[in-house]
Amino acid sequence: MVKPFIIGTRNSGEFLHAGAKILKEGGTALDAVEAATRLVELNPNDTSVGLAGIPNILGVQEMDATIMCGKTRNSGAVGALKGFKHPISVARKVLDDAPHVLLVGAGAERFAKAMECEEGDLETELSRKVYKAFIDDAFDDEGVIDESQKWVVKYAKSQNLKKWYEKLADEHHGTVNIMAMDADGNIASAVSTSGTALKFPGRLGDSPIIGAGNYCDNRYGAAACTGMGELAIRNSTARTLIHYMENGLNPEEAAILSMKDIHDLSAVGGMNCIVMDNKGNTTSATTNPDRESVHWYYDVDMTEPEKRIGINVNP
Ligand code: ASP
Repeated sequence: MVKPFIIGTRNSGEFLHAGAKILKEGGTALDAVEAATRLVELNPNDTSVGLAGIPNILGVQEMDATIMCGKTRNSGAVGALKGFKHPISVARKVLDDAPHVLLVGAGAERFAKAMECEEGDLETELSRKVYKAFIDDAFDDEGVIDESQKWVVKYAKSQNLKKWYEKLADEHHGTVNIMAMDADGNIASAVSTSGTALKFPGRLGDSPIIGAGNYCDNRYGAAACTGMGELAIRNSTARTLIHYMENGLNPEEAAILSMKDIHDLSAVGGMNCIVMDNKGNTTSATTNPDRESVHWYYDVDMTEPEKRIGINVNP
């Protein structure tokens, strides 16, 4: 019998206690991952998730989130969601109450409103400041960003749109990945992000795509990603990680192989993953040779999360 536990990426360590508390009280993995993710979404110092999240290229915050139940493989996902305080809880409502798995944009907002999800302005002084710094860095001439989308035309004409964007987008990433196993052996996973810096309006990354940025299955484990979402979509990275474990690899071996798959794309941008199996083994990995791959582990016998160092995977 595996001790109930919860794990998460980057700064989630300080927020995992919300999920650990639920697990200690005999609650479900789904409730635990949602509760911990909500705290990260409320953190005003994190400009990549929820409150203060980095806006799209027009200065509008569009949030992506997914939550998945490993027992049923039911999932809830929202993309390009505006004006709601907890994208992860809107995703949870989709999982629990919608006849669909993925809702985006105005439709997702209409659903969230009908479900009485908490509305809120996610913009802060910090997010405005970060946005301005990116914009100043990205454009040389004034007024090139406007609703008429002259900026797209300008860069498309110079045939540099893709290159310009890749350079830009590689510089600011961030997403929270949280996953847990409860006393019944059920696994759940949650992902929430404001997406990549200065993304196009309507751009969805891997985070709202089940199988790309998030996947879990009680029979094997859970996997989730952060980094340049386009790459995880192209490789179906989260589902592929589970597939590797299904075929006998342990989480470390699966993580290494999936990061090598990313290198194999020979594309601009990096990828990171966090993985657990249903025996309680955990790992994380990154394609970045210089960045420490960190995840945090917190089981029901602990009072503090434990920092665990993952793997740097070279090409
Ligand atoms: N994966 C996210 C996205 O592409 C962003 C990130 O993790 O940096 O939207």
